Amino acid sequence: MSTQNPIFIPGPTNIPEVLRKAVDMPTIDHRSPMFGKILHPALEGVKKVLKSTQAQVFVFPSTGTGGWETAITNTLSAGDAVLATRNGMFSHRWIDMCQRHGLDVQIVDQSWGEGIPTERFEEILTADTAHRIKAVLATHNETATGVRSDIAAIRRALDRAGHPAMLFVDGVSSIACYDFRMDEWGVDIAVTGSQKGFMLPPGLAIVGFSPKAMAAVEGAGLPRTFFDIRDMARGYAANGFPYTPPVGLLNGLKVATDMLLDEGLENVFARHHRIAEGVRQAVTAWGMTLCAARPALYSDSVSAIRTPDGFDANRIVSHALNTYGVAFGTGLGDVAGKVFRIGHLGMLTDVMALSGLATAEMVMVDLGLPVTLGSGVAAAQAHYRHSAGKACRQAA
Ligand SMILES: *Cc1c(COP(=O)(O)O)cnc(C)c1O
Repeated sequence: MSTQNPIFIPGPTNIPEVLRKAVDMPTIDHRSPMFGKILHPALEGVKKVLKSTQAQVFVFPSTGTGGWETAITNTLSAGDAVLATRNGMFSHRWIDMCQRHGLDVQIVDQSWGEGIPTERFEEILTADTAHRIKAVLATHNETATGVRSDIAAIRRALDRAGHPAMLFVDGVSSIACYDFRMDEWGVDIAVTGSQKGFMLPPGLAIVGFSPKAMAAVEGAGLPRTFFDIRDMARGYAANGFPYTPPVGLLNGLKVATDMLLDEGLENVFARHHRIAEGVRQAVTAWGMTLCAARPALYSDSVSAIRTPDGFDANRIVSHALNTYGVAFGTGLGDVAGKVFRIGHLGMLTDVMALSGLATAEMVMVDLGLPVTLGSGVAAAQAHYRHSAGKACRQAA
């Protein structure tokens, strides 16, 4: 089967041709000044994407998960309390990592489809007068459920409680997809990876540390070696890494940040919103609903779509792959078998999105679901036609 179809998993994303070429590089001497000409613009570009003037950016050969580990091991000690919500598979996995590192995780469980309960956070933080909680962990975009949480509201909760805890944000599937303001929201550590909003192959953990997070590094007791940002900072100062850098991916990151900044971050966000809205119109036309409980929680990077009770949603994903060679995302954890996911992040166009919706319709009709062929596509077409020309750019 041809593998030319776009993919609709919520990361890794479709890779623009320009970035595939940027990543495919001959070997250079990574100890030569040539490497610094790739590294430093890539770090500067990330900083702009994070909307930060103060952050120190570190990039590791790893993935988003390594970014979580970088955040906690560089700033915390065993026994430290952290506050987190579990509302999907990714927030769950970050909590699990913290527990395995001996942190005392205060978990606020939410039903999957809900966001971070900022009022509850404010109560907990206000009650913590001894300031035992050292960090608040927030998953900006819960990729398992297609739920966006309000990071600015968490910052307000911390401020109203007068609590000094650091704010760590998993922005793996939001950064470079929709609005993210590291400095304005007082985010102390922002975590992402190369294969979502940055449109690259997997292989990089990308983190930004605020001055406050940097100040916590020396006192942190958790062991770290590979992810020690002090070694990394010394490497950068000498135009290098503490070990062999993934040069091609870093060159890709440099070009990806150029692409995003050339398009304009607000245009990138508007494009994601517009594509996502077309997908949501299609879901409504199918008579189906999203896992996200309310429109305020709808994610512009992924939609998790509930299937009728008693129907195994994974059948949609396997049938789409086996019959039409198109990949959608399965449900994870609590929502396994109950939802399928359409990823709409990265360099997607209207035309690509429409092909995914058309495929999903064929699959659902094949499997006997009460969906009319063309209904969702027509709804998305109407939305794309009416909003055409606004921040629409062709895939490079
Ligand atoms: C993809 C993702 C991760 C995990 O990233 P890996 O690169 O697979 O380690 C973490 N958090 C969120 C929200 C994600 O979407």
